[in-house]
Amino acid sequence: MRCEHCDQGDRRPVKQAKLAERDGKVAVVLEVPMEECQACGERWLPWDFARRLDELLTAILASDVEVGTRHFGTHDASAA
Ligand SMILES: [Zn+2]
Repeated sequence: MRCEHCDQGDRRPVKQAKLAERDGKVAVVLEVPMEECQACGERWLPWDFARRLDELLTAILASDVEVGTRHFGTHDASAA
């Protein structure tokens, strides 16, 4: 799909870690699927993925660990 941001490149699927910080706690969600433009670097996260990402980050920040990581595709909590 053509990038509507720069009109120079194609969007391709990538997986990227997303991080959130609150009250001294850090939440990391790994391998979040999104699209990235190879030309300008603009990224798109579909709405339903964004919502799931938000739920995961919120759940990690609500837990008792200082730094929590999860993979986007699983429900496993692997707290570091
Ligand atoms: Zn672009």
